[in-house]
Amino acid sequence: MSLGATLMTTVTTEYEPVIGLETHVELGTRTKMFCGCPTEFGAEPNTQVCPVCLGLPGSLPVANRAAIEATIQIGLALNCTIATWSRFARKNYFYPDMPKNFQISQYDEPLCTDGYLDVEVDGQLVRVGIERVHLEEDTGKSLHIGGTGRIHGATESLVDYNRAGIPLVEIVTKPVPGTGALAPTVARAYVTELRDLIRTLGVSDVRMEQGSLRCDVNVSLNRPGEDWGTRTETKNVNSLRSVERAVRSEMLRQAAVLDAGGRIVQETRHFHEETGDTTSGRSKETATDYRYFPEPDLVPLAPDPAWVQELRAGLPEPPREHRRRLREAWGLSEVDMQAVVNAGAVGLVEATVAAGGSPESARKWWLGELSRYANERGIELTEVGATPADVAELQSLVDGGKLTDKLARTVLEGVLAGEGSPATVMSARGLAVVSDTGALTAAVDEAIAAQPEIAQKVRDGKVAAAGVLVGAVMKATGGKADAKAVRELVLSRLGVS
Ligand code: ADP
Ligand code: MG
Ligand code: ZN
Repeated sequence: MSLGATLMTTVTTEYEPVIGLETHVELGTRTKMFCGCPTEFGAEPNTQVCPVCLGLPGSLPVANRAAIEATIQIGLALNCTIATWSRFARKNYFYPDMPKNFQISQYDEPLCTDGYLDVEVDGQLVRVGIERVHLEEDTGKSLHIGGTGRIHGATESLVDYNRAGIPLVEIVTKPVPGTGALAPTVARAYVTELRDLIRTLGVSDVRMEQGSLRCDVNVSLNRPGEDWGTRTETKNVNSLRSVERAVRSEMLRQAAVLDAGGRIVQETRHFHEETGDTTSGRSKETATDYRYFPEPDLVPLAPDPAWVQELRAGLPEPPREHRRRLREAWGLSEVDMQAVVNAGAVGLVEATVAAGGSPESARKWWLGELSRYANERGIELTEVGATPADVAELQSLVDGGKLTDKLARTVLEGVLAGEGSPATVMSARGLAVVSDTGALTAAVDEAIAAQPEIAQKVRDGKVAAAGVLVGAVMKATGGKADAKAVRELVLSRLGVS
């Protein structure tokens, strides 16, 4: 057991954790929430703005129907009740990246409430309650110049409003008690499942590294039998791994404070990737600080039940159901399938099979060679530069006898280095198996002629000695012969087979 796991066990014999997750998802709509500005990522700063999203006086918002539709789809996929009547609200606060000095959000009348998402952890099903799913607008982005990129130590700050007004869906869970030492894993599994679900809906690209999915992690501890403790909220945790680490480190920190007879302060905290721990942010404001009131410039939302029904009927198969079906089709055990899921390779294996690969070989390449390559570089499997079609092609070259497994790995290196498809790399680097029997027989005869004593041993029945001759042939062909075929040829030339 690792030190971390031992510590966690100690914590959870004395305390029970409660977790809660707030997830923000930037929708992939073509235009912003309340204006027609484009939403593409990575444009020159302040080129995707207009009077509405800059909050200029006299401008008026108009709600984006596609964003409302996407929010209802998310709510339905999360088994929520869809409101028949809902309103936007102003959340008032000052922040330089928010030009109106208020954010249009939803408060006491959100679009979706009271749902759940089931997640699997260690073969166990954990039901995470969903409190609400609401729609709001994103803020702009502050860029701090000089120093470390944080505001402290910066010489100046710039603001980019391209992101201001992009539709943002907030998904808030109910408090989740009872997960004990598994709390960090449950938190991660929940965000993973939510991400996959939303990706399946096609309403967001849910890329944590680009900030289109962001997570705030709430954690509290209580002694068994006592009321839930005071929670802290760790903001903007930006990878799945960080979600898990943030919960773990906050559990350990809070336990240490409580052990020492201290009190937990309700506050926001920041997670630090480098160290894996959290530091204090600001003490938490309460709803009254925001002076919420109904947004007077927008009409209430009353989704037509027929529209909601249509969206419900059109929901895709949930990822968990989809995985179950794939597992059966691929003939995998639960454990093997879990390995594919954990590697983030479900879609890749699926696409490889669709491109003609066998499930077995697809799994082997994605979980073996390619996972190793991704891990070494700290990138996602989807970013390795080999496609499912490449993997299917590579395996078909192996199956067709053109490549040995070993040569295939070398070819894959070339593919990953951007040298082209497997077939291209194979011919460009001259890696194909020597299948010309004439050339191979000549190489075998040469090896036999060069080592007559060994050849004699084999003829006398010491078949194991043939390995030396096989080795010589493999060397002579630059490793490009199929060792098994060479062995058979050696034996037959020596009259032993
Ligand atoms: P806020 O706007 O203050 O962040 P929200 O209602 O948006 O409040 O979110 C609070 C989150 O904290 C929810 O996910 C909720 O389930 C969770 N939460 C509430 N109480 C606790 C608690 N005692 N321990 C852990 N999480 C909690
Ligand atoms: Mg919140
Ligand atoms: Zn605009």
